[in-house]
Amino acid sequence: MSVNPAPAAEELTFCTVHPDRETGLRCNKCGRLMCAECAVQTPVGYRCKQCVRQHEDKFFTASSNDTLIVIAVCGGLAALGGAILGAIGFGLFLALILGFPAGGIVSEAALRATKRRRARYSGEIGAAAVVVGGILGAIGQVYFYWNSLVSEALAGLSPEQIQAATARGEMPTLTLDFLFRMAFSDIGLILFVGIVAFVVYSRFKMKM
Ligand SMILES: [Zn+2]
Ligand SMILES: [Zn+2]
Repeated sequence: MSVNPAPAAEELTFCTVHPDRETGLRCNKCGRLMCAECAVQTPVGYRCKQCVRQHEDKFFTASSNDTLIVIAVCGGLAALGGAILGAIGFGLFLALILGFPAGGIVSEAALRATKRRRARYSGEIGAAAVVVGGILGAIGQVYFYWNSLVSEALAGLSPEQIQAATARGEMPTLTLDFLFRMAFSDIGLILFVGIVAFVVYSRFKMKM
């Protein structure tokens, strides 16, 4: 902690951000005056928030393109996983066993695709993409399953019969309610998506 050499009594110094707060504490990088609230304790001494942020930004080198790649890779793989596992239908035990390695694969793929460049919020963005992708994958799988059931049922009918059934309002209609209920009926799938999102988030937050 670096403190100003004792100033003369009338030479009071104040925080750069809060002009009403008297302080003698200076950022050890840029030298600006800062109050206790503005000071950040770092391993190399007290620094102002701007200098801390600047230092962090050197670590975050990802471009907006990299962010899009993270979304595409995380969302795409999670959608694939959600669709496959939604089709198989699996319990909590399998979700627990598969979730962690799957999260490792997804985050590693995203990191490799972006040459390990990260942004401040890569972890949050990757995890959100996993959740959205996983849900869309599960819903998509239910949708295709439903479609195949309907076309199977209709295969035995003539076009006239189908027309008549449509006219009588007897054609099955797919409701959003049904889609969501089917997609979320498997708690294992929800747990799986949650674990993958958690692993992706943690992996991106890890210092490398
Ligand atoms: Zn500073
Ligand atoms: Zn201040």
